[in-house]
Amino acid sequence: MFRDLPALQKIIRQLQKVPYLASKNVYRVALYFLQEKNSDIELLFDSILDAKKVIKNCSTCFNLTENNNTCSICSQNIRDKSVICVVETWYDLNAIERAGGFNGVYHVLGGALCPLEGISADDLNIESLFKRIDNNVSEIIFATNSTPEGEATASYISSKVEQLNLNVKISRLASGVPIGSSLEYMDRVTIYKALSGRRPF
Ligand SMILES: [Zn+2]
Repeated sequence: MFRDLPALQKIIRQLQKVPYLASKNVYRVALYFLQEKNSDIELLFDSILDAKKVIKNCSTCFNLTENNNTCSICSQNIRDKSVICVVETWYDLNAIERAGGFNGVYHVLGGALCPLEGISADDLNIESLFKRIDNNVSEIIFATNSTPEGEATASYISSKVEQLNLNVKISRLASGVPIGSSLEYMDRVTIYKALSGRRPF
């Protein structure tokens, strides 16, 4: 397609590398860029490059943080550092924060175990979680998604935590989280209820 427009093909090829961009939208986005003012396109790409320079992962929980090693949640004194809520992604962390009512801290795994896609424990922020767990930690709450991958990840980590032989309570979000669903897309009330009615894992 568009063999007479190699420059356009080049944009399309780059856009096709962007995940989450539906393939039918790639052409629309390419045309949008072609019609936009150069200054607006520069603003867009500069903002991405600038953000990449200043946004990084919190050295403790792997939440996103700007210009600091510690994120805004870990650096709050009022947060209960003895309760760690384990989530798959930054989106899930934000879903729980939006729901409100959780005063502990988080650990963002960066995904879930998925042998079929070659995602093993080494690819996730799991080792760093074990390093955080000491006698000062009273509870680990698994808020991984209720997908087979999310459940397998919670099982794997909890069995390892048990082997640490510390007095740590391990819990899981209460039922009410629809099977196969992502926290990211759930409403605040459901998340709040699931968190307050959590059960032993
Ligand atoms: Zn943090």
